[in-house]
Amino acid sequence: MGQSYVRKIIIPLFASALMFGMLMMIHRSILVPKAHAENQEEAGFLLLRKRMVKDQISHPPGYREPVQDEEVLAAMRTVPRHLFVRKQDISRAYGDYPLPIGYGQTISQPYIVALMTEILDVSPDDKVLEVGTGSGYQAAILSHLVRQVYTVEIVRALGEQAEKRLRRPEYRNVQVKVADGYYGWKEQAPFDRIIVTAATTLVPPPLLKQLRPGGKMCIPVGGQYTVQSLTLIEKSEKGKITMRKMLPVRFVPFTRSMR
Ligand code: SAH
Repeated sequence: MGQSYVRKIIIPLFASALMFGMLMMIHRSILVPKAHAENQEEAGFLLLRKRMVKDQISHPPGYREPVQDEEVLAAMRTVPRHLFVRKQDISRAYGDYPLPIGYGQTISQPYIVALMTEILDVSPDDKVLEVGTGSGYQAAILSHLVRQVYTVEIVRALGEQAEKRLRRPEYRNVQVKVADGYYGWKEQAPFDRIIVTAATTLVPPPLLKQLRPGGKMCIPVGGQYTVQSLTLIEKSEKGKITMRKMLPVRFVPFTRSMR
């Protein structure tokens, strides 16, 4: 009785306790610190985003018009901008400047992204076209604010990279296409809003056509070496076009050649 008691109860009990202890040790030494470190890192990035919004966007230096739209500011605090820049630039992702994304292109300065989004004046039900996907960051911001985002990029490698980045549940209302955005996205037109993030000397007529009556377009107008003006275009319910220059900006040029 004594021996079988030891064999049937004490040994299995001891073995299970040992196993449990070992599992807990593995859990503590591998899993817990990793999750902890990731949470710490996320908390750090969130802090950087909150600081970016306050210092650069909602309470910027005096020469800048503050962006006040609370929903735009909330989207800027939410989207992890560091996932839209190159690995070597992660530490500068929340700085007050544009950054290179390869192929001679850039991800716009956070303030400009926020300002353009505010000027665009979107509603939750809107269908928006973006021309110039680049990193996908502007599209990610818009995805939090509108029903559907269609974005077109002319540089194949950038379009494909952005499409991969945006393959997350929170961005499922974003569709990326590699094409010349001069022609807009005819199958999905008309659009409530159109945002162009490369500078054109002339507003592409197909984009004006694909803007619905009552719609708005935000587009930098100007040449590569001349002053560019961030311009708000409005189409009245009757189809009349008006243009208003908002502020001088500096964007990469709108091109017409697929790469
Ligand atoms: N919105 C981007 C910034 C992009 S920079 C972001 O959030 O990161 C401008 C982009 O416009 C570049 O990637 C450039 O390749 C693209 N572009 C230039 N001309 C274009 C055209 N005709 N059609 C589509 N994209 C164009």
